[in-house]
Amino acid sequence: MTGTVIRSTGSWYVVRMEDGTTIDCRIKGKFRIQGIRSTNPVAVGDVVDFDPEEERGVITKIHDRKNYIVRKSVNLSKKTHILAANLDQAILVTTVAQPKTLYGFIDRFLATCEAYDVPAIMVFNKMDIYGEEELAELEYMKAAYGRAGYQYIETSATEGVNLDAFHDLIKGKTSLVAGHSGVGKSTLINAVEPDLDLRTQRISDAHGQGQHTTTFAEMFQLSEGGAIIDTPGIRGFGLIDMEREEIGDYFPEIFELKSDCKFHNCLHLEEPGCAVKAALDDNKLAPTRYQSYFWMVTGNEDDNPYRQDNY
Ligand code: GDP
Ligand code: ZN
Repeated sequence: MTGTVIRSTGSWYVVRMEDGTTIDCRIKGKFRIQGIRSTNPVAVGDVVDFDPEEERGVITKIHDRKNYIVRKSVNLSKKTHILAANLDQAILVTTVAQPKTLYGFIDRFLATCEAYDVPAIMVFNKMDIYGEEELAELEYMKAAYGRAGYQYIETSATEGVNLDAFHDLIKGKTSLVAGHSGVGKSTLINAVEPDLDLRTQRISDAHGQGQHTTTFAEMFQLSEGGAIIDTPGIRGFGLIDMEREEIGDYFPEIFELKSDCKFHNCLHLEEPGCAVKAALDDNKLAPTRYQSYFWMVTGNEDDNPYRQDNY
């Protein structure tokens, strides 16, 4: 039998079958798929085959993944923890204030999505609370991320602004919904899918089957098809084996400029004839995007001549 993993506790997996029923499954033996050895080889979103054994099942096969995202490593072990698989898209919910989402977080998230072939869409929420200064910053962000090729919408979950657009984004697709705590992810989702109260589900889980929701993703079906993958409590997504030379490939607007750099292996740091630095000087590349790139490549910010305040 075949189904989709909708919840993982690390040792048990809840698998949803086509007819909507679920079965608890475990794994037997060692799995290694697509060259990755993982401490937790089955991820939310995985399509699996299983043998039913009484009320429970044993997973016998994990189907090839379209893509997947890994969790940031919490220790220095080299083991990979796959967070979610087979995503149609990632939706990053951000706010300019209360709380302000930092550029470093946004850009690392977007670069991770690029690296893992997951299309990313941005939602700027809490549009109802912004004053002049925040709106000016939002204009900067829209220019920066629009130039990089990202689609975005502006919403207010509490005032009902652009909720149809948000609903259209998630309908019929499997979406990872990410963003700092407090930006309004649950409010947005509850506004368009009232029966799917993420906050309530998280709370009841914490009292029920332990604290797994703090470290594992969970998938929720949407009424009109599609699903949301919720990742509460997960601080960030890890990148496996990202070389310094490839980071520029994960910033679409930097990648586009690269062919104009004098050196084909230009890292856009101190090299002469760098088209990325020229674009920065001409105001054709957002300085915060470069700042994030610089930080990811060098591991430090101090030597960045284009360093921004309010980053
Ligand atoms: P989550 O942690 O990302 O799921 O955030 P929540 O959905 O729990 O929202 C955090 C707080 O922000 C709650 O008090 C919400 O009522 C509030 N909030 C969410 N969206 C908006 C919005 O668009 N405008 C305003 N003013 N508040 C919002
Ligand atoms: Zn360059």
